[in-house]
Amino acid sequence: MTEESYKRHLLPALSAQLEAGQTAGGATLEAFALLDDALRARATDVHLDPDREGYRIRLRIDGRMVDALRADTTQGGRLVNQFKVLAKLNPVPSLVTAEGGFRWSRDEGEEQIHLRVTAVHCITGEKLAIRFLAPPRTFDDIVELGIGEQGALGIRRWMDATGSMLLVAGPTGAGKTTTLYTLLGQLQLTDSHVVTLENPVEFSIPGINQIQVDLEHGLDFASGTRSLLRLDPDYVLIGEVRDRESAHAALSVTSSGRSLMGTLHSRDAVGVITSMRQLGLTDGEISANLGLVIAQRLVRRLCQHCREQAAPERSDCEWLEAIGQVPPALTWRAKGCPQCDGLGFRGRIGVFEIWQLAPEDHARILRHADESELRRSLLERGVDLMLADGLAKAEAGITSLREVFRMGAILSA
Ligand SMILES: [Zn+2]
Repeated sequence: MTEESYKRHLLPALSAQLEAGQTAGGATLEAFALLDDALRARATDVHLDPDREGYRIRLRIDGRMVDALRADTTQGGRLVNQFKVLAKLNPVPSLVTAEGGFRWSRDEGEEQIHLRVTAVHCITGEKLAIRFLAPPRTFDDIVELGIGEQGALGIRRWMDATGSMLLVAGPTGAGKTTTLYTLLGQLQLTDSHVVTLENPVEFSIPGINQIQVDLEHGLDFASGTRSLLRLDPDYVLIGEVRDRESAHAALSVTSSGRSLMGTLHSRDAVGVITSMRQLGLTDGEISANLGLVIAQRLVRRLCQHCREQAAPERSDCEWLEAIGQVPPALTWRAKGCPQCDGLGFRGRIGVFEIWQLAPEDHARILRHADESELRRSLLERGVDLMLADGLAKAEAGITSLREVFRMGAILSA
């Protein structure tokens, strides 16, 4: 790693403080300078990684790790110690992974941010990961998530109807929670009664009744669902459908005529059927209860101030053609300017695949159709799969072609 590849300008306060050397007692901690800088740079995580020469300081911005600064062993060690003291961790390095946390606010009177600190012993020394724990971002309208008009229409139709499941599918970090919370926000505006059952409740949402699964006191998904149904909700949100228990809890909600929202790990929309079968639901149960699937990924948004038009690379076009896709005529690439801290990207947007189940889909599921048959029927109906949505966003200059390729969605039917 060369010195030039470090984006020092992301950490101006810390750089200045390290260059000035350790000031006498009473000065602001270098750890606070680093947090100040990280917050300004919109980082979600800060990593202090030891190596032979010292420490690499890295930030995670818009989901991607960025090398920000090098510190020597003394400086890096001092930062690690400051964070460990703040997080009430034992300052003596240990072979066991340790986790702690603390609250911090940039200015007095500002709302405090909760930070989680994890210390892991690596062969080159002690590595620290510091995470800003913030509630998921929500939007005023589902269209702002990056969902097209057609998909948004399907979601609104689902909201108006009752008694079926809406599942948001994708891997970890695909923005599923932001989508669900944005939907919750929309429901809040209607005169409906919404209850959530979460394990655990990570963030409280004003105006929504939230119940936390508490296994020690006998409140599991099954008993939690029974008690929340007595509250007579219109919509129920259960965080993640991840095992047989939560899958059956979800089923009991829709069987009783209420609408259910949840997330599920799956590569794409039709993959949800396989996941539900693996969780022990029968084809009949899936067919009768599943109403809508939103599959998604996140890509970085090109900085609108410095993006440059560029013809797509020939190898990319050939590859797209080989999998039966029409390459975009024109694409855009990241450059970097002061508005985006030289990164070329700023913020993220969702790439979506929205499957509103039609009667023919229900019939196919009952016939135990596999994923490729279900996907083919979606394509025949003209539904945009994730790759097509990503390519359209690349052509429109919202993101780069490289970002679309990186999201790792299913590439052909
Ligand atoms: Zn820019």
